[in-house]
Parts: sequence; C-alpha cells; structure tokens
Amino acid sequence: MSDTFTQRLENVERRIAAACEKAGRSRDSVRLLAVSKTKPPEAVREAADCGLRLFGENRVQEAQSKIPMCPNGLEWHLIGHLQTNKAKVAARYFQMVHSVDSLKLLQALEAHAGTTLPILLQVNVSGEAAKFGMKPDEAATVIEAANQMQKCEVHGLMTIPPFSPDPEKTRTHFSALRQLRDRLQEETGTPLPELSMGMSHDLEVAIEEGSTWVRIGTDLFGERN
Ligand SMILES: *Cc1c(COP(=O)(O)O)cnc(C)c1O
Repeated sequence: MSDTFTQRLENVERRIAAACEKAGRSRDSVRLLAVSKTKPPEAVREAADCGLRLFGENRVQEAQSKIPMCPNGLEWHLIGHLQTNKAKVAARYFQMVHSVDSLKLLQALEAHAGTTLPILLQVNVSGEAAKFGMKPDEAATVIEAANQMQKCEVHGLMTIPPFSPDPEKTRTHFSALRQLRDRLQEETGTPLPELSMGMSHDLEVAIEEGSTWVRIGTDLFGERN
C-alpha cells in the first residue's frame, strides 16, 4: 500500500465515528484495538507515535519476542486461541485476554495471573465447526466460576464470525452475541459491558450491533506479512 499509516488510521477513525453516529452511540463507547500480528516492532512504534495505545496479538510466542522491543506504556490484548500450557507466559505479557474459550483455560489463567486480569469469553455463536470458542450454553458456568476467582474478571464476550465478503451477512452473529450477553447478565447477575466484535471489513455492522472493541489489523497495518 502506498498510503501512510496516518492516512489509514484516519480512514479507520472516520469509519468508526460514522458508525457510532449512525447507531446513536458516542465515539467513546468503542475502543480501537490495533491488531499488530505478523508486523514488526517498527510498525507498532509508528502506530504508537500516532497515539494508539491498545494492541492485539493472536500468538503468545510472537508476542513474547515482539512486546519487549515495542515502546513502553502500551496495553497488550491476547485475541487468539491460547493453549493452557501457555497461560503462564500469556499472563505475563498481556493485560487482557479476549479469547478465553474454556473453563480449563480460565483456571490456568487464574493460577498464573499476578494481578487482576480482565478477560472476555470467546463464544462460537454461529456454530461453525472450524472456529474456536465455547458453546453459548457453556458461558454461564464459566462466568459463575470466574465470579469465585480472585484475579480473573469476566468483562464480557468476544466472537469471530465465519468470514463473509458481505458484512451484512455477519450481522446476525453480532446480534446473537449481544443477545447472549443480555441473557447472561440477567442469569448470572454479572455486569458484562464489553463486546469484542468487528474486524477490518465489518466494523460498521459490529458497532451498530453494540461492539465496544473493534479489532483492526489489515486496514491499519496493510496486508499481513
Ligand atoms: C487477525 C485478527 C483480527 C484482525 O483482522 P483484520 O481483518 O485484519 O482486521 C481481529 N481479530 C482476530 C481474533 C484476529 O485474529
């Protein structure tokens, strides 16, 4: 891509603002998570120089080598599938985990977290076989378990819908996640304010359906390396 990071960021920001406006939401109600996976520390530095502070990585091993080479003061979010045997390393490098997809993983994170660790439960609302994420009817049990824990705190839900070139096709999955969240809040009495949903090509639909975290890689950093 010949355009600069600044131009791409402005474009993403413009899209987020327009979607918030259309949905009657304040711009502050949506956070932009810059997904830097496959990109070098220099790309993160450039993004940080433009004022971005919230970064997402999907693999612990990559994060472990990259994060120490990045500017201080950034917040790192794990958005990819985590094996329980990597929970200890993950708890050291990440300030939030969007991709908790089992009770077993929650327990491993609780065992290794040094301090309060905000997490989101990744739910497979589409039922698509190939994707990670717990079943919707497993989430209540995991929330109840987290409510008994000292460090892990469930702040909401996350989903990765099956890819469709037409973002409108994804709307039902985003809306299903929001409705599940509403139901789980009722059922468990746990506030679940956060919904992590929406990527480069479907952030508008996600925001209209209530997203509070959009995870943007390609439209900020360009095609993946
Ligand atoms: C890579 C990735 C993203 C970013 O996807 P883009 O389409 O490049 O914006 C978002 N969420 C997760 C979980 C990812 O792995």
